[in-house]
Amino acid sequence: PKAVHVVGGGLAGSEAAWQLTRAGVPVILHEMRPVRKTDAHHTDGLAELVCSNSFRSDDVEYNAVGLLHEEMRRCNSLIMRAAETAKVPAGGALAVDRDVFSQAVTAALEAEPLVSIQREEVAGLPPQEWDSVILATGPLTSPALAEAIRDATGEGYLSFFDAIAPIVHKDSIDLSRAWYQSRYDKEGPGGTGKDYINCPMDKEQYEAFIQALLDGEKTAFKDWEESTPYFEGCLPIEVMAERGKETLRFGPMKPVGLTDPHSDRRPYAVVQLRQDNRLGTLYNLVGFQTKLKYAEQVRIFQMIPGLENAEFARLGGIHRNTFINSPRLLDGTCRLKVDPRLRFAGQVTGVEGYIESAAIGLLTGRFAASERLGQDLSQPPATTALGALLEHITGGAEAEGFQPMNVNFGLFPPLDPQTAKRLGKRERKRAYSQRALADLGTWLSGDRRAAE
Ligand code: FAD
Repeated sequence: PKAVHVVGGGLAGSEAAWQLTRAGVPVILHEMRPVRKTDAHHTDGLAELVCSNSFRSDDVEYNAVGLLHEEMRRCNSLIMRAAETAKVPAGGALAVDRDVFSQAVTAALEAEPLVSIQREEVAGLPPQEWDSVILATGPLTSPALAEAIRDATGEGYLSFFDAIAPIVHKDSIDLSRAWYQSRYDKEGPGGTGKDYINCPMDKEQYEAFIQALLDGEKTAFKDWEESTPYFEGCLPIEVMAERGKETLRFGPMKPVGLTDPHSDRRPYAVVQLRQDNRLGTLYNLVGFQTKLKYAEQVRIFQMIPGLENAEFARLGGIHRNTFINSPRLLDGTCRLKVDPRLRFAGQVTGVEGYIESAAIGLLTGRFAASERLGQDLSQPPATTALGALLEHITGGAEAEGFQPMNVNFGLFPPLDPQTAKRLGKRERKRAYSQRALADLGTWLSGDRRAAE
């Protein structure tokens, strides 16, 4: 078969290339390093880890990331194989020696006769002769390509940084303190006037909260991040607090148009939460993007009435990060709707993290291979970690205000209510994992590339 072009030899591109070769499809892998560098990479190795050396929890039974590891192992993942080779002790986490890891990935692809690695920047939309392309150029996609993508997708569908507000599991919100209501009971499209969950604060609580934001420990911006222009609408919450005690009460925490049914009064200030996925299992804290350290976020945000026991599906952050509005732009196999010869993979699709990026690389590699070979493109079931992540970016997430996401059990379709009721919180996680691995097995058994 004719070669598929993979642009970017990072976590996603390397995995995509590997999956294509497993199916017997040739690959031309275009990686711009070392010809052109990024602000975060230091080497010319493929799949370089730019920061931490951890792939996070390896707990297959109780953790969605650990489950994703296991699913990828079962899909014959190069990234997981190299991680095994490069493993260093890290308790329950999967951590690696970054150099050994990157060398293992590079060596495997260099040794693969179906792969040709070209060290060059793809400095614009790929030429029309490339009839099947996977763009896996990551959070630091080179400016020339990023601009071409922006032109192709339309203004406003490509972001150059993320501004992530913390996201909580809905079932951990205390609705005896919080309540459903849209400001002025306004109904959005298809809305009910009850689209938001509101957490009330009195004056004392508000002032203590502002003080905690000011005192909380923050993560510093990297030099090259400082130069990223921030829009006024996306200022970190602690920066707004620094501008004055009342700034937040006139901004995201304004109480107008809301009445607390528990007291029948308008609160002094509110924190609003907005539904984050179609399943309605996740809610984000509106306007709460932040550079507070993770432990501080948990401590400070649990001061909010109704969120005392909140469980966070992901914490807030602001980073340089190039990503597209996938729920709007991509079809179910990560093809750009307006130019289906182009697939996107990795962090640029709005997943977050090494392993999530590699996971989308794995799937797009398989999709592109099936397409090339004229086979069916079947997606993994949404009950698997791979499927849940794919479903989130290609349709499950709200397109408006779409921000990058880690894998977590909140993305999975709920268990049947009978089972869920019977099980405690911890055991529910295990039930998700068991269901996932069983369903993955069924999916893979229809796929000849599963067993090696
Ligand atoms: P990358 O691994 O970045 O791969 C993209 C590749 O494309 C690069 O090799 C790049 O050189 C190449 N490229 C770019 N443009 C072009 C072009 N036009 N032509 C040819 N090649 C091109 N995630 C974590 O889980 N843990 C962390 O600690 C972590 N820290 C991060 C720190 C920073 C500073 C950043 C920016 C991100 C971090 N991430 C982290 C997020 C993310 O998981 C990683 O960036 C991950 O590497 C993304 O994988 P990827 O394959 O999508 O992109």
